[in-house]
Amino acid sequence: MPHPALFNGAGSRHNPGMTDMLSLPDHDWPVLQPGWVWLCGAGPGDPGLLTLHAVNALRQADVVIYDALVQEAILAWAPQAEHIYAGKRGGKPSAKQRDISLRLVDLARAGKRVLRLKGGDPFVFGRGGEEAQTLVQHGIRVRIIPGISAGIGGLAYAGIPVTHRDVNQSVTFVTGHDQSGNTPGSLDWASISKGSQVIVIYMGMKHIAQIAGHLIAAGRSLSEPCAVVTTATTPDQRVLETTLGTIVDDIAASGMEPPAIICVGASVLMRQVLDWQGMMAGEAPRNLDPLGRGLPAESA
Ligand code: SAH
Repeated sequence: MPHPALFNGAGSRHNPGMTDMLSLPDHDWPVLQPGWVWLCGAGPGDPGLLTLHAVNALRQADVVIYDALVQEAILAWAPQAEHIYAGKRGGKPSAKQRDISLRLVDLARAGKRVLRLKGGDPFVFGRGGEEAQTLVQHGIRVRIIPGISAGIGGLAYAGIPVTHRDVNQSVTFVTGHDQSGNTPGSLDWASISKGSQVIVIYMGMKHIAQIAGHLIAAGRSLSEPCAVVTTATTPDQRVLETTLGTIVDDIAASGMEPPAIICVGASVLMRQVLDWQGMMAGEAPRNLDPLGRGLPAESA
């Protein structure tokens, strides 16, 4: 459930001087030149997760071209710019990737300072590499501004550490569907399942039944902890804790909708002690030692 307290003040006191402080600290900030395109990650939603480079870019842009996953609140930070939506909304077909890239080329050639704003990190399942490549192929100068990816930051907002020493020494990020909209045929689910204690799935909601089936067939336990985090880091964030054996039914029963990050692995259990949003809303931690390693956590 969302925790309004987190966003409205209680527990996370609003700093009244903060807005003034948002003028960027003294630093040699890059200048967005006319004719350049900056490809920038906006983070998973909460505007506080923007980078300072992103704020610097928002301040300078003539045009901001943004995706569906970019929170509109963030656009308010570029009031001087034209805002162009390049995503899917209200059942309208999404702009074709190539059209978006060529639009960026046109805007840059027209001498605009172009900010291409993408959800999360532009180079994580965001097709940022393709856009940047097209720009470079057309002779346009680019700068890349990384962002906090939903698979890391979104899980952190749910109290799930994407790596935890007692759980995993590696993590695999996978996409739940490929260009054709199917579960990626090129993914070797058996290897992923054997080789990675924690698996973080982007765009996994549509094909969760197949994905869970692949993982179970490859030997992952039906009782393996899983979490589904939707609209992570926004006031609408929801978190479902479930298992590989029950995830399909539990998602259906919950009515949860994409965008969602799905995490498979024991690190999900850490939410029992690290659900910091729940704690800010007054809930007690459910279990101080969910992995049963003994207290205190850092004694070893
Ligand atoms: N470049 C983005 C990912 C783009 S792919 C990033 O680095 O985060 C789009 C997918 O990202 C969504 O289908 C969903 O799986 C995930 N995603 C992005 N923002 C999210 C959010 N706020 N909450 C949950 N999942 C999110």
